[in-house]
Amino acid sequence: MAFDNIVGQTKIKEILSRSLAKQRVPHALLFHGPEGVGKEAMALEMAKALVCQQDKAGYCNTCPDCQRIGQLTHPDVYYIYPAMSTTTDKEHAEVKQSIVQNPYLRLNPWASPTISIDRIREIKRTSAMTSFENKGRVVIIAEAQKMTVEATNSLLKILEEPPDNMTIILTSSQPALLLPTIISRCQNVRFSPLNWDEIEQAIRAKQEVSVERSNLVAKLSSGSLRRAFELLDEALDERRERTIEILRTVIRGDMERLLLVEELVAKEEKKTIQEYLEIMLVWFRDVMIFSEGGDESMLVNLDKRDTLERFSQSFESFDYHAIVGQIEQALERIRRYVYINLILINLFSFLKQQLRRKHG
Ligand SMILES: [Zn+2]
Repeated sequence: MAFDNIVGQTKIKEILSRSLAKQRVPHALLFHGPEGVGKEAMALEMAKALVCQQDKAGYCNTCPDCQRIGQLTHPDVYYIYPAMSTTTDKEHAEVKQSIVQNPYLRLNPWASPTISIDRIREIKRTSAMTSFENKGRVVIIAEAQKMTVEATNSLLKILEEPPDNMTIILTSSQPALLLPTIISRCQNVRFSPLNWDEIEQAIRAKQEVSVERSNLVAKLSSGSLRRAFELLDEALDERRERTIEILRTVIRGDMERLLLVEELVAKEEKKTIQEYLEIMLVWFRDVMIFSEGGDESMLVNLDKRDTLERFSQSFESFDYHAIVGQIEQALERIRRYVYINLILINLFSFLKQQLRRKHG
């Protein structure tokens, strides 16, 4: 079956397989959805299906075409991704290597990379030539919302008169940042977050990991396989301990809270702070399940059952939904703003108000 390399997304596989079988793949597709759910991986598999000569309705994954597409060396398949104008060939080679090894984990070592007009012009230039092989060309533009204004306008012209024998696949985790005229010229395919089982199976297929750990990682991953792989690499247990410590400090006093924020912002990367908040989020969800007498197998931090129990018993009742809402909002703000001190101070004082120790 085609798309064996893709985790989950069954419905999308069906839709794409059908359009391949009928040879009715649109000139332009937009794969959108959260990060790390397989948009770019699927784009590469689609490229194989469109180019491979061995299998009319799918692809073989073994012929030279399929192999070269997987290695990102096929002359008829372009893979464009955001980068810097200063990116060196060596860096490009490293990014490409990361895609070849695992398309769910493309490296992105830059803070604000873009897709320049030069890259889009390349498409135009090559579309005028006949393809090296004969089944057509595929252009993949990953995270297409990172195109500069000039690049977007140039792509728009291409989409207005799509070259014969060329399929353009855009991917985007923030489609709201794309021009409506770009979106409307593509067939939109929405990717969903993966479920816990899909993530667990996928990480265990890729590396040796215990059931407990893959279970925990899957539940913390927000349905993103990329996130799950990242979490596997990190000192997750340490992070959880630290998060619980942060919560303990938060409920102490105003001064402790300010010092904590200062220390976090000075010493930790933004990404790590986001992780603490994500862990906090599932921590409170667990506390909620626990105190409402819910199904304990649903607990993310099942291995910390005792700590959870103590935690949920040591406070007066508090508004879980409000807390979860505030943490989610803080995460969203941190994603958008550079300065996170104020966001953390606000969140932590809210938590302090909510979490009142029981006396006696
Ligand atoms: Zn093939």
